[in-house]
This record gives sequence, C-alpha cells and structure tokens, in this order.
Amino acid sequence: MTPDPLALEIADRGEHALARLAALRSLDPPTTGGRILSYVYDSGLEELDELATRAARLAHGVNGLDPTVFASVAEIHGGIVDRVRTILGGVTDAGAPGGDAAGGVVPGGAEVYGSVTSGGTESCILACLAAREVSGREPGSGGTIVAPVTAHAAFRKAAHLLGLRFVGVEVDPATGRVTAEELLAAVDERTVLVVCSAPAYPTGVIDPVAEVAAGLEARHDPRIGLHVDACLGGLVLPFWPSAEPTGPTEPGGSEAAALWALRVPRVTSISADLHKYGFAPKGSSVLLSRGRERHRAAWFATVDWPGYPVVNPTLAGSKPLEPAAAAWTVLEALGDDGQRELVARTARATDRLVEGLSTIEGLRVLDRDPGPLLAVAMDDTVDDGRRVHPHLWADACGRRGISVQAQPAHRQGRGTLSSSSHLTVTPVTERLVDDILLVAREAADEVRGQGAPTPPAAFGDVLAALDSGALSPGDLLALPEDDVHAMVSGVLSDAPDDGAGGGMAPLMAAIERLPADVGARLVRAYLAAVME
Ligand SMILES: *Cc1c(COP(=O)(O)O)cnc(C)c1O
Repeated sequence: MTPDPLALEIADRGEHALARLAALRSLDPPTTGGRILSYVYDSGLEELDELATRAARLAHGVNGLDPTVFASVAEIHGGIVDRVRTILGGVTDAGAPGGDAAGGVVPGGAEVYGSVTSGGTESCILACLAAREVSGREPGSGGTIVAPVTAHAAFRKAAHLLGLRFVGVEVDPATGRVTAEELLAAVDERTVLVVCSAPAYPTGVIDPVAEVAAGLEARHDPRIGLHVDACLGGLVLPFWPSAEPTGPTEPGGSEAAALWALRVPRVTSISADLHKYGFAPKGSSVLLSRGRERHRAAWFATVDWPGYPVVNPTLAGSKPLEPAAAAWTVLEALGDDGQRELVARTARATDRLVEGLSTIEGLRVLDRDPGPLLAVAMDDTVDDGRRVHPHLWADACGRRGISVQAQPAHRQGRGTLSSSSHLTVTPVTERLVDDILLVAREAADEVRGQGAPTPPAAFGDVLAALDSGALSPGDLLALPEDDVHAMVSGVLSDAPDDGAGGGMAPLMAAIERLPADVGARLVRAYLAAVME
C-alpha cells in the first residue's frame, strides 16, 4: 500500500506545530506543583491527571450535542449528576434520598435533576435563566437577581445576558457577611432568584442559606428561586474535616447538610464545579435543580427551522464529551474515601497557611468560614510604616515564584471592602506550605511600609482629569474604542518586561480609583490589548 502523501505531509507539519505548542506552553507557569494559588486545583496526584487524559482520549470525537446518537453521553452525564447529587444531599428521581438509609423523605417535595455544563459560569447563568422562565417574566421587564455583593461575577454576567437586574446586597465591610434579614429585605415581587454562596470566592464566607431559605419560605412567592452557588464548595465542603459542620459530611446523610445543601428544602438549585474540587480538567460543572419544571426551564428547544430538531440543555450546541468523560472517570476513581483524603490534605494545608500568614506583621487574614479559601488584607492596627499592602505583597510573592490573586477594594455604602489577595488551597499545597510561608514573609519584608500602590503612569492624565472634573466618567465611557485601546497599550508598553508585566498592583490601583463601569471598560481593553 502506498502511503497517502497528504497524511505524510500532515504528520510532518503536525510535528512542527506540536513542537511550537510545547514551546508556547513553556511560557505558562506550571499548572501543577502548587505554586499558583488560584485558577488551578491540583490534587497533587499525577495518576489522576493521567486518568483524566486517558478518559478524554477515549471520549474524543463524540458530539455531546446528541445523546440519541451517542449513547455514552447520557450515561456519563447521568453518572456525574448521580454522584454530585448524592454528595450534596439530593434525592434521586426514584425519590430515594441519595445515600440516606432513612429513605422516603423528599426535601422540598420534588426530585433533583441535573445538567453537566462547561463550567461554573454556565451553571450559574442557566440557574438564572431557569429562574426567569419559572417566574414568567420577560427579559427586560425588571426581574431581579438578589445576592450579596460577594456573589460571583457570573451572576452579574447572567443578569447582563438575560435581561435581568443584579441587586447586590451590601455586606458588613469588616466581616464580609450579610444576615438573612439584610438579604431578604431586597427581595420583592420583581425578584426571580436569590443567590447565596457556599463559599463566596472573594472572602471564603458561607452565606446563611438555611436562614434565607426559612425567610423566603415564610414570606415570599414559592416561584422565587433560591440558588446556592457551591461552584467552589460543592465538592470540598461536604468532606471538610471540621469541628463545625460545613455541609453533608456523610454524603447526603448528615445533619450538617441542613446548613446549605439540598437538604434545605427551599433551595431550588445548586451549582458545583467538577473542574475545581472535583479535580477534573477544565470544562466541567454541574447544575442541580429541584423538580422537573425548573430543570427543564433552562433548556432551549426549537423545531422552527429547516434543520434537525434542536434541544440544548446547556448553552452550547455541539460540545465535547472529553471534559465530562474525564470528570466522570476522576469521580469514579476517587470515590468518597479518595475525595475525603484529598480534602483532608487541603484542610491541613489551609490551617497551617492561615496560622503562618496570621503571624506576618502588617497583614491580616480576613474573616472566613471553614473551607479552602482565604484572603489577606492590610493590618491597619499597626503603624503606617509597618503595614503591608496586599497587592504589593502579591506582586512580591509573584517575583518569588508564588502566585496569589489580587482583588481590588470594593466600594459600597456601608464601607469599602478592603483590597485583598486571594489564595485557593489545594491538596498539593500541603507539600509547599513551608516554602509558601517563607516567600510570604520575605515578600512582606520587602514591601512593608511602602504605602498604597499608584496607578500606571499611562493612566495618570486620565485620572487627574477625572479628579479635576475636566473629564467625566460619561466622557470616558463615550470615548471611541480605538482611543481607549491606545491608552491601555501605553500601560502595557511601559510595563517592565519581567514576564509578570510589572505586577498587578498598579492596574488594581487604577481600578480602585475609577467608577466601576469605567474600570470594566479599561480591563476589557487591557485584556484585548494583551490578546492582540
Ligand atoms: C469559580 C466560581 C464560579 C465560576 O466558575 P467558572 O468555572 O470560573 O466559570 C462561580 N462561583 C464561584 C463561587 C466560583 O468559585
């Protein structure tokens, strides 16, 4: 048989492309090994990554769009939903509470159904879409999503896309918390969905789900949804070893499930990301919904076009099976005991980090609940000269090879939430705690007493003009995109070429000085300039 000349040529060019890809990947920080304390969730087990890769390869080529053609799609999605529903204390569609020997009890009076999505943002958007549909409100007719300001930005995005309004309820600036009463005070006849987080990404605080549920139950229309955003916590809190209950420690069966998961009957939906503490590759999350109506309300179907009948349970049309197949395999491989052990490692690492960071002069660890997130801010009880600004500290950690995530201060009427830096702790972190704390101390020593960072020089004119009133925020919003681009490109070209772009502190300082809509425009232009 003569070899296909096209195949030979493609193989040759493909090898070159792969070599270039490998070189490009070497520009990235390592995604395993624990030196990045956000974005990546590393089990620390190479075997698990290897399994996920093999699973993805087996699923290669399948179009998840159509389970009637590809039978594996329904089985894999069904298996994932079953597993996550059990962990979160839901009931199966047979009416038996997952993992609960007591049986028969059907919290909320309806079974729990689920969709596998591409990530937390998609799960959250679909929860909002379902809530809007169940409410019967038209897009743009004033329907609201009520959530603490600490709820993930995905809900603001959902409101933007779905013709809803995001009503952010201010939190106590000292603790990052809202009471159920404060949250419920924002609920009215326009509300389609109330959102609580378990936990909130910026703070690690778990919102008072059970109290909010009780208040909604007592006083409000049953069609108003209550979504628990457990994108981060869903697969970690139920296994968290803690004196205080943080969720269903015996999957589906514990008293603690009453705190925030599906055991709270008034909770109507919950999102949990597999690509976070499910230790699966990026591209998988689950949305669980109580009752067929709410579950199916997020779907889109049409036969009103000349092509195939369309039924999309999620936002995408054609979609890969790879992420779901990888997530399913990882869930199966870990089981309860594997998950519990990985979470125990995470918890030990978190405790040691919190303890160590708390002793660094000039920094303080923000109020939080048990779980793998923590944020540090400046300790303003010490003298000016001893304070450590968390963004300068983050950049100094970055220069030493440990990446933590800067979070800008958030202005609200009750008082500003401080600038902070966020750390996501994963199982692999346990091996690195001493290294991380060493870096954290050195970085704090380097920047202690330096004062607040200043915005990039390229923004100087604009900020001065805003301050003097020569330019209004409206003028800035009206600027043509090319002018904004030119301004932001100046920031990028001024930045020292140290791979970290000179750090994030100056950009954060600019964001903190600008009205939020202007800041959003600038960060959009910034990312676009990076990508161009
Ligand atoms: C990560 C996260 C999301 C969004 O998830 P993506 O997977 O990044 O789209 C939503 N809510 C919380 C609390 C999260 O931590």
